[in-house]
Amino acid sequence: MTHRTVYVNGDYVAEQDAKVSVFDRGFLLADGVYEVSAVLDGKLIDFPAHMRRLRRSASELQIALTLDDGTLLAIHRELIRRNALEEGMVYLQLTRGSTGDRDFGYPEAETPPTLVLFTQAKALVESRSGREGIRVATQPDWRWARRDIKTVQLLYPSMAKMAAKAAGADDAWLVENGVVTEGASNNAWILTHEGVLVTRELSHAILPGITRAVVLEVAKALSLHVEARTFSVAEAQSAKECFVTSASSFVTPVIAIDDVKIGDGYPGKVSQQLREAYIVESRRRVM
Ligand code: PMP
Repeated sequence: MTHRTVYVNGDYVAEQDAKVSVFDRGFLLADGVYEVSAVLDGKLIDFPAHMRRLRRSASELQIALTLDDGTLLAIHRELIRRNALEEGMVYLQLTRGSTGDRDFGYPEAETPPTLVLFTQAKALVESRSGREGIRVATQPDWRWARRDIKTVQLLYPSMAKMAAKAAGADDAWLVENGVVTEGASNNAWILTHEGVLVTRELSHAILPGITRAVVLEVAKALSLHVEARTFSVAEAQSAKECFVTSASSFVTPVIAIDDVKIGDGYPGKVSQQLREAYIVESRRRVM
């Protein structure tokens, strides 16, 4: 594999030369936030929405982000250009930086945050999971209580995915008090037999997915009935269709939950239709 060019605090450097302090609070305390923006045809999908969420995450944690959207867009574009990225993602991470030591207390306001970006090539449109769907296994939602903030504390989602894989599934759905919160790294949806599309309402319990918001719009444009409410594992298992949404998987059908087939066990018609419509809409939104 050829070496990527990554961005670290104002510099574009070869990935093997990129450096962040061992005292960085992102490294020591998971004190940081991130965004993942999808790239199609070398262009960014829903960039303004991702930057709005980044600013909200940073401000909820009082992490300074002084760069404006124009500058952040220029950095994203320069990385896409330097790495000749056609399809995939740009990962951005912003941490509270380093004072050169370890301490729970936040550093002085003048301590500069650390900003790192890199590209990841991935086939997003023509993917096996998009075509064939995925199997999910439920796991208890043992994450912290502010999942609306996109922090880099991803140990538990990582553990949940590993447990789901050990159970023979592709990904995890997280469950709390009998209801599904979301996937380990995506938002969860069901289609009822009455034809109502259901996804959990926004709150501190889930991440407000950018893809979720666009799919809600796309669904309304297709005249689908939509409800934002919680649903149980049992309701999802007996639903007509299930799917997940995220920037890096678009709309991906779910064909089984804990080995219980959803519908006939194949990707649902509405899920496939929403995936197609989401891709069409995204290509109109690129920048
Ligand atoms: N929920 C969680 C926990 C996630 O990690 C993600 C992906 N970052 C999502 C939902 C989907 O968000 P988006 O559509 O903005 O990628």
